[in-house]
Amino acid sequence: MAYTPDQWALQAFERLKRDGLVPTPNNYAIYYYYFAGSNPRLRTAVDIFLSKQPSLTQDNCNELYQTHLGIDAEHKMLQEANASIESEVNRMLDMIDRASNDANQYSETLDDFSGTLTSGKSMEQIREAVTKVAAETLNMSAQNERLAAQLAEATQQLSEMRTSFDQIHRESQIDPLTEVGNRKFFDKELIHTTAEARDNAAPLSLLMVDIDHFKKFNDSYGHQIGDQVLRLVARTLVENLKGRDVIARYGGEEFVILLAQTRLQDAERVANLLRSALSTKQIKKRSTNETLGVITVSIGAAEYCPGEDMESFIGRADSGLYKAKGAGRNQVICETLPDAEAAAIKARRKVF
Ligand code: GH3
Ligand code: MG
Ligand code: MG
Repeated sequence: MAYTPDQWALQAFERLKRDGLVPTPNNYAIYYYYFAGSNPRLRTAVDIFLSKQPSLTQDNCNELYQTHLGIDAEHKMLQEANASIESEVNRMLDMIDRASNDANQYSETLDDFSGTLTSGKSMEQIREAVTKVAAETLNMSAQNERLAAQLAEATQQLSEMRTSFDQIHRESQIDPLTEVGNRKFFDKELIHTTAEARDNAAPLSLLMVDIDHFKKFNDSYGHQIGDQVLRLVARTLVENLKGRDVIARYGGEEFVILLAQTRLQDAERVANLLRSALSTKQIKKRSTNETLGVITVSIGAAEYCPGEDMESFIGRADSGLYKAKGAGRNQVICETLPDAEAAAIKARRKVF
């Protein structure tokens, strides 16, 4: 029996309830498209999860959405925006083409007229030719006005499309929950800032920040309070950074911060400042004003060695973070590059 969209919607809601998931638009979309079957990759990925466990978890949903719906949706929007810009440009080119044909015709009429004047025609013939040119001139001028209006309208439409295109592009790089940059934004910024550091021989440091025992927090107070904590952490980090610093949500409860023009020692100082700013925040349940404790974070820090590859740079900050967790959390650990590796990178740079 073929199901209808109403039934997919109903099934999706029932499954969310059964799995104990909050029916957010993203969670709903996963099961809706799962039942609709229109996204085979999503369907297979959900089936794989469900072959190992009875229901989807929130983490599974986040991952599924990110991989199979978020990016698809964004691509689709960008493709649509691209297609409408292309068709608008084609419409403008058509108008210009038609106008140029009309102008050529008009120019031929004028040539004929000047021929008439110079070839000793009778007064009657000249009067006829003048009438024809006057009519053509009127026609041409009306057409020009129409064209100018059409072109102005098309230009306006193009500029509106451009604005919504820019907006889609900007939104595609923002994490909707915390409103800081997302992973895609970070990847782009990382390429840009490391290139700048290399070209200007300027220092650049990276902090990897991870909330301590966040899972326990989620488990004790629920996912929505967890989300509230994520927003508070992001806001506190932003408030305590300078304008040129770059912050992004790297995934789950992890944030990355790029500190341009900053040596490792200063990055460590900034990291400790962020840690203490966070420790002053009390998490309160809005409905009851009940205090739910404080947030602590562990931070790994690394300074970029010009010429080093991105994986190594991120890997070092990550390894600092891992060590900070192992050493009891709520602390900053800097991970320097071993001298031999730094020397090898410098030597490689000299060759190229
Ligand atoms: P550790 O101190 O070792 O970092 O422990 P942890 O509990 O913070 O780390 P773990 O990796 O075990 O758990 C991370 C948790 O973050 C699990 C997941 O449910 C939660 N999480 C990931 N993304 C989100 C989100 O968008 N919202 C909420 N509320 N929770 C999330
Ligand atoms: Mg954590
Ligand atoms: Mg983590």
